[in-house]
This record gives sequence, structure tokens and C-alpha cells, in this order.
Amino acid sequence: MDISVVIPLFNEEESLGELFEWIKRVMDEHSFSYEVIFVNDGSTDHSWDKVQELRQANPEVKGIKFRRNYGKSAALFCGFEKAQGNVVITMDADLQDSPDEIPELYRMITEDKYDLVSGYKKKRYDPLSKTLPTKLFNATARKVSGIKNLHDFNCGLKAYRKDVVKNIEVYGEMHRYIPYLAKNAGFDKIGEKVVQHQARKFGHTKFGGLNRFVNGYLDLMSLWFISNFGRKPMHVFGFLGSLMFFIGFVAIIIVGAGKLYALSKGVPARLVTDSPYFYIALTMMLLGSQFFLAGFIGELISRNANSRNSYQIEEEL
Ligand code: UDP
Ligand code: MG
Repeated sequence: MDISVVIPLFNEEESLGELFEWIKRVMDEHSFSYEVIFVNDGSTDHSWDKVQELRQANPEVKGIKFRRNYGKSAALFCGFEKAQGNVVITMDADLQDSPDEIPELYRMITEDKYDLVSGYKKKRYDPLSKTLPTKLFNATARKVSGIKNLHDFNCGLKAYRKDVVKNIEVYGEMHRYIPYLAKNAGFDKIGEKVVQHQARKFGHTKFGGLNRFVNGYLDLMSLWFISNFGRKPMHVFGFLGSLMFFIGFVAIIIVGAGKLYALSKGVPARLVTDSPYFYIALTMMLLGSQFFLAGFIGELISRNANSRNSYQIEEEL
């Protein structure tokens, strides 16, 4: 099979019919063999009925129905597990992404040998409250992930080599960072294609509100930490702990030496608690031991983690 299209959806009943017809038209024009996997993420409208209806008439349609709403990442994860095509394409269900992009995305994966091609909605039809923070967010993500050529990490329209989706685990709200997940898994030929974007035709956005930015940044930090220190937590905490301890040690020497000097000269000695160095020593040593403890606990956890010895082997002879 050439292409699997994975479509996460949450209350998108009005769009599904039109979206599938459009995909079908493009696929037939280019005579691709394909499947379209609709992942119904706990919709409360008639989306699932619509998927069933499409399935009746088209054997290419497949469906997964969640019992409740788990989020876009979960939907993508399950769609990826089911996908059989050599190239896997994800797109949103709301008709904002255009199926006309599929052939070129497919070509970039199969001929230009990209592992992942991300859409770039250069001209977006979303309100400013969405596009402006997104710019900031993408700039940070580029810096942290080291994927310098991506403008739009969170674009719903992406294409993947099959290996990629079978070897990454999208969880929580990590769908925003799939290129970073892919890079951490060793797939680093990541490209970008400018894609057409439409205004939402039906329904409304499922990702409003400010807290998604806070959460987005926290997720980015977690990913950064996991990819750099996930397998060796002591390296970061041990370093911080040692640094703190060293500063505390210097401070305590200053305090102790000052006191001894005063005593030996017979001048009236200050109380050690009057010295700022005393407090520096105290906090630094406390913090230092905390960091060490965090490091040891991290090591214990990573030693027990299921993934402690899972590596990505590309080939074996
Ligand atoms: N979606 C989902 N589960 C959710 C939220 C959204 O499967 O909990 C789907 C949604 O139906 C759509 C896609 O994810 O197909 C992108 O959502 P949306 O269009 O609301 O995001 P936006 O384009 O506004 O960023
Ligand atoms: Mg949308």
C-alpha cells in the first residue's frame, strides 16, 4: 500500500464527507493504493455514524473509535499503530488542510528520501490570537530541538516514512513536537513544504485558550530534558549538586577561617550567623544534597524503566 492517511477527529461531523471525497479524488487521479484511518477521539456528535457510513461504501475507509476524548496525540498514536502504507500522512479533519498536497508530500518522502516532511502554513487563516503566539512558540522549539529549518512544528498536515511512525511514541500533548520526537529517534532528514491553508468551514477550534502555551513550553522542556538526560539523570543532577557543594564549601572555609583568625588574634569574634557566607554555605549544601538525591532517584527510576535498553536498530545482517 502506498499511502495511509491518518485523521484524528473530535466533533467534525460536517466535514468528514467532503474531506473523504476530496482525498478519494486525489488518490484516484494519481492511482495510489491507500487507506484513510479516521480516529474518532470521543466525539459527542454524529461523527462516528458518518465514519461508519463512509466505511459501508468504501473499503479504503478504516475507523478507530475512542470511548472518550483522549486528545490529538492519543488519536495519532493509535492511527500510527494501525497504518500500513509506506508513507503515512496526517491531516486535520476540519478541511483546513488540503488533500491536494498529498502527491507532492508523497514524492518528497519516496524520491527526495525525507524521513518526515512537515507542512508550513505560510499564509494562515486563523485569528491573530493564534498565529502570533505560534511564531514565538516555533522560534523556541527550533532553538531547543536543533531542527533549524522548520517554521511550523504543529502543522497538522505532515508526511512520514512508515519506519518513523512505527518507532516514535506520541503521548500526552506531544503531537506539537513530533519532528523533535522523530529526531530523537534518529530520523533527522526532516523537511518542510509550504501548504495551502483554509479558514475553518464548520465547527470551531479545539485548541483555544492560553494554557496551551504554558503547557506547550513545559512539554518542550520535558522533551529536552528526556532527550539529553533521560538515560543519565545523574549527569545533570550530579553536576549541579557538585557545583552547589563546591560553592558551599568555599563559603564555609571563609566563615571558619575568619572565626579562627579572629580568635587567634584575640579580637572579639563575630557570631558565624552574622556572616553572609554562613547563609550561602547553608543553602548551597542543602540544595547540593537535594540535587544529588534527585540524581540518585532518577538513576533508580531509569534503571527500572522498560525502555532502558530499547535502542533503534536500523539494520542487522
Ligand atoms: N482533535 C482531536 N482531539 C482533540 C482535539 C482535536 O482529535 O481532543 C482533532 C480535531 O478534530 C482536528 C485536529 O485535531 O481534526 C486539529 O484540531 P483543530 O482544527 O481544532 O486545531 P486548530 O487547527 O485550530 O489548531
Ligand atoms: Mg483546524
